[in-house]
Amino acid sequence: MTSTPEGALTTDTTGPDEPLDLAGIGIGPFNLSLAALAHPLTHLRTAFYDQSPAFHWHPGLLIDGATLQVPFLADLVTLVDPASPWTFLNYLKTRERLFPFYFAERFHLHRAEYDAYCRWVSENLPDLHFGHQIDAVRWNPEREAFEVDFTQLGTEGEAEALGRTYARNLVLGIGTTPHIPVPLRLLADAPAVPVIHSADYLDHRERLLAADHITVIGAGQSGAEIFLDQLRARPAGREGLHWLARTPAFAPMEYSKLGLEHFTPDYTRYFHALPERVRDGLVPGQWQLHKGIDHTTLAAIHDELYRRTLDGGWPDTTLTPGVCVRTAGRVGTTKVELHLDHTQQGTRSRLTTDAVILATGYRERRMDTLLAALDPYVRRDSGERPRIDEHHRIALDPSVTGSIYVQNAETHTHGVGTPDLGLAAWRSATILNSLTDKTPYPLPTRTAFTTFGLPQPSTPRTGTVPRQGSTLVPRH
Ligand SMILES: Cc1cc2nc3c(=O)[nH]c(=O)nc-3n(C[C@H](O)[C@H](O)[C@H](O)COP(=O)(O)OP(=O)(O)OC[C@H]3O[C@@H](n4cnc5c(N)ncnc54)[C@H](O)[C@@H]3O)c2cc1C
Repeated sequence: MTSTPEGALTTDTTGPDEPLDLAGIGIGPFNLSLAALAHPLTHLRTAFYDQSPAFHWHPGLLIDGATLQVPFLADLVTLVDPASPWTFLNYLKTRERLFPFYFAERFHLHRAEYDAYCRWVSENLPDLHFGHQIDAVRWNPEREAFEVDFTQLGTEGEAEALGRTYARNLVLGIGTTPHIPVPLRLLADAPAVPVIHSADYLDHRERLLAADHITVIGAGQSGAEIFLDQLRARPAGREGLHWLARTPAFAPMEYSKLGLEHFTPDYTRYFHALPERVRDGLVPGQWQLHKGIDHTTLAAIHDELYRRTLDGGWPDTTLTPGVCVRTAGRVGTTKVELHLDHTQQGTRSRLTTDAVILATGYRERRMDTLLAALDPYVRRDSGERPRIDEHHRIALDPSVTGSIYVQNAETHTHGVGTPDLGLAAWRSATILNSLTDKTPYPLPTRTAFTTFGLPQPSTPRTGTVPRQGSTLVPRH
């Protein structure tokens, strides 16, 4: 990680004549994986930028005991390069924690441990620039490179300097943002009564515990974890907890071994080759693959509720699925009133509560603002979404000889595996193989027992990658 002396006005970090080979925008797990796998490719000149002052993975949800939903092998590099110095196991070795991990027999890491591992990688990899907000990207035909404008931010997020860098190719790994349903947006913006998104849960935990009654909305993993955390911490018999969800049930996440093969390169390739309308029809029906609740969390909730009936009586909790919030408003200065619709019953009711936690999920961060100047060059599908090829490249007008790759913004073309950490290393390797016109990371031609789709006579099953855009001649 490198930093520029305070207040210095930087105009061009790549030197007057040489654009970078690759600039990465956003340093979440996915671009961190790419940076770690690019590191040994010394002929590649790369730099990655993130607006946050340092790497922190979903800090508002590092709830004690919360774990990843994928095994530790889904770290930043292992599934394509198990000998990399950036593996989770090597991180443990540097921390002299391999034996404790060996005896811990933990396949699913604590979320806090994954966060610490990624931060270790981010603090030891070169060419990662935190505190750099990328403001705009445009194509410079003279330089045959993208111009990337950034604002250097101070530790409090204040703008300190403006700068520009040039790169032949870009990768957007700008992640997701919390989603707040329309009926609750006004309330979420007003600080008086806590109406918070689950992403900020730990910042408000104590205040929520002090409230007599709280309502959790949303039946995903975050909603379940917050409900469980509050349930465990609130006095028996005076829990004052409502848990509401639009889904017809508090349903488990699909975790069967064959079901999980939807998170493989084989399924991603199959999905990408489907017609657009078929892809669009498939995704909503696959919600339980990535939006359900981990079965161990569901079991822990039932256990805690059951434990609270041992002295007789039932806990003061209400868990109701199939309910959506039609509107919401304030009651005085200290309470919120939710107007609820029960879809199956066709009934309505009102719920007054002291605080609301919106475990209502995330949406892919919009690329349009960043890429506004490139809009004329971007090829779009019938839904006005960027067309993205099998190498995770945005389809651009041929006059743009550089490539723009995306990470975690291509569910519409690559399916449910897009936000999955288990595909991080494979996607990064796919991008680097495409970028270098070589195969620094040979990839498996088969990754699932399920054969998705019927074999097509024309489908090649080789590891090589056809090219588009700028050619990268390795620098000796
Ligand atoms: C609480 C939670 C738990 C999850 N657990 C799992 C799990 O167990 N298993 C799993 O497979 N998936 C999980 N996911 C899904 C997914 O893996 C994560 O969301 C992951 O963080 C996505 O990584 P990312 O790199 O796409 O984006 P993010 O982690 O969202 O990072 C994007 C980065 O881009 C930066 N950025 C954005 N715009 C700009 C800009 N203009 N300039 C500079 N920087 C910018 C942001 O500051 C941010 O640091 C979880 C998601 C959440 C929310």
